[in-house]
Amino acid sequence: MTHSEVDVVVLGVGTCGEDLSLQLLDAGLEVAGIEASLVGGECAYWACIPSKVMIRASSLLAAARQVDGVAGHAEVTPDWAPVAARVRNEVTGGWDDSMGVGRFEQRGGRLIHGRGRLTGPATVSVGEESITARRGIVVATGSKPAIPPIPGLADVAYWTTHDIISAETLPGSLTILGGGAVGCELAQLVTAFGVKVAIVEGRDRLLPGEEPEASSVVATAFAADGISVHTGVMAESIESDQSSITVKLSDGTEVVAERLLVATGRAVDITELGLESAGIDATTRFIEVDDRLRAADQIWAIGDVTGKSMFTHVAVRHAAVVAADIIGREIAPMRYDAVPRVTFTMPEIGAVGLTEAQAVEAGIDVAVAVKHVPATFRGWIHGVGNAGFIKLVVDRQQGQLVGATAAGPQGGEVLGMLALAVHAKLPLDQLRSMIYPFPTFGGGIGEAIGASGRGVMTVLDPEYKGLQELDAVGNP
Ligand SMILES: Cc1cc2nc3c(=O)[nH]c(=O)nc-3n(C[C@H](O)[C@H](O)[C@H](O)COP(=O)(O)OP(=O)(O)OC[C@H]3O[C@@H](n4cnc5c(N)ncnc54)[C@H](O)[C@@H]3O)c2cc1C
Repeated sequence: MTHSEVDVVVLGVGTCGEDLSLQLLDAGLEVAGIEASLVGGECAYWACIPSKVMIRASSLLAAARQVDGVAGHAEVTPDWAPVAARVRNEVTGGWDDSMGVGRFEQRGGRLIHGRGRLTGPATVSVGEESITARRGIVVATGSKPAIPPIPGLADVAYWTTHDIISAETLPGSLTILGGGAVGCELAQLVTAFGVKVAIVEGRDRLLPGEEPEASSVVATAFAADGISVHTGVMAESIESDQSSITVKLSDGTEVVAERLLVATGRAVDITELGLESAGIDATTRFIEVDDRLRAADQIWAIGDVTGKSMFTHVAVRHAAVVAADIIGREIAPMRYDAVPRVTFTMPEIGAVGLTEAQAVEAGIDVAVAVKHVPATFRGWIHGVGNAGFIKLVVDRQQGQLVGATAAGPQGGEVLGMLALAVHAKLPLDQLRSMIYPFPTFGGGIGEAIGASGRGVMTVLDPEYKGLQELDAVGNP
C-alpha cells in the first residue's frame, strides 16, 4: 500500500465531481480525483447531452413532417446512422475520456482511474493506494439505472439507457418500461426514426410527477405519433425467444417487441463506499446531507448520490456550494423549492416548484390559471404543433407563484422566467405589470396573467377563466 496526501479527494469524477474538482484546482488546491469509469460521467456520455443531440435530430424530422399543407410538401427519409455517428464521434469521442483527464491534469490535479472507498474520516483507498485528505473528501458517485424485480427480467438481454444512447442501429420495435421523463423522451425520439414503440407505466398516467395536463398533452402527442401507451398496469413477467421479448402486463395484455428498454428510474447504492468508516450511516437510501451538502465533518456528498432532485443543474449547483464551503467563500445554501425540470418531448414540458396537487397538499391557499398555447397569439400564429399550456400555481395569501408548467414549443425556454419568479418569490403584481415581448411563447405568460390590459389579449380566448382566478390575488 502506498500513501499520499492532498487537500481534497473527490470520489467520483462524473458530472458534478469533475465540475467541483476544476473549481478547487482553479482555487489552487491540491486535488486527487478517483473515477471508476469516464471523467465527465453520465451527463456527458450517456444521458443529457447525447440524448438531447438525438432529440435535436428527431425534432428536425418532426418539423419536416409538419410541412405538408402549411408550406408545400416534404418527404422525409429518417436515417439513424448520422445521429449515432455524431454521438460517437462529436459528443463522446468514442466514449473516451482523455479530454476530461487532460483538463483535470493540465490544472495540476491527479486523476486515478479505479473504484475508491473511504477507509476513515480523512482517508480514501483505491487499488493499492491510500490517500489522506487534509481539507476534506467529497463523494460524488452518482446513480445507476434502477432495475425492477420483475420475474424473468434478469434472464433477458434488456437495454438500459446506456445501450440505447450507444446504439449504432435501432431495432424495428421497442418496449419501454417506465413512462417518466427519460422513458417518454426516448419513446418519441426513436419513434421518429420508424421504431414501433410501446410504453408501459405502472401509475395511471405518463409523467406522473408532473401536472395532469402535462400527461394529457404528451399522451395526445404519443397517440398521434403511433406510440402504444399502457398506463395503470404493471409488467408482471418477461420472457424472450431468439427474435423477441414478451412483457406480460397485469391486465392480461402481452406486449411483444424486438428489444426491451428499462427506464424505471435511478438507484443509488452507497453500501460499497466505506461510509461507516467515517461514521456516516450507510443503511439509508441516499447519503444524508444538510443544506451545504455536509454529510459529516469535512465530508461532503453531491449530485445524484444525495437523492436530491437528480438533475445535472442541481448537481452542478451542489458543486458550487461545496467549492465555496471548502474554499471559504460566501454562497447561498441549497434550496429545492424552485428546481426546474424539463422533459424534452414534443411538446416540451418545462416545470418548476410545486404542482397544483402538491401545493394543495402542502396546505397552501391555491389559485390556478391554465392558458392553452393555441389560445395565445404566438401559439395561434405557430399553428400546427402548437399543443401546450401555461399553468400557474399561485399562493393566494402570499401573492406569489409557487409552481408553474410551460408545455408546448420551447416549453423549457419559456420556463426560465417562471423559474426565476418562483425562485425570487416575485410578487404576482411584478409579473402582471412587466412588459412582455409580442408575439412570443413567453408572452403567453403575460396573456395568462392578464398583463397589458384585457382588450385584444382576450380575443383568442374570451372564455379564459384564469383572469378571474388571478384577479383575486392582489390588484393589477
Ligand atoms: C437518459 C438520461 C437523460 C438525462 N437527461 C438529463 C437532462 O436533460 N437534464 C438534466 O439536468 N439531467 C438529466 N439527466 C440526469 C443527469 O444525467 C444526472 O442527474 C447527473 O448526470 C448526475 O451527476 P452525478 O455527478 O451525480 O453522477 P454521475 O455523472 O453519474 O457521476 C458519478 C461518477 O462516479 C463514478 N463512481 C461511482 N462509484 C465510484 C467509486 N466507488 N469510485 C470511483 N468512482 C465512482 C461513476 O463512474 C461516475 O462517473 C438524465 C439522466 C438520464 C439517465
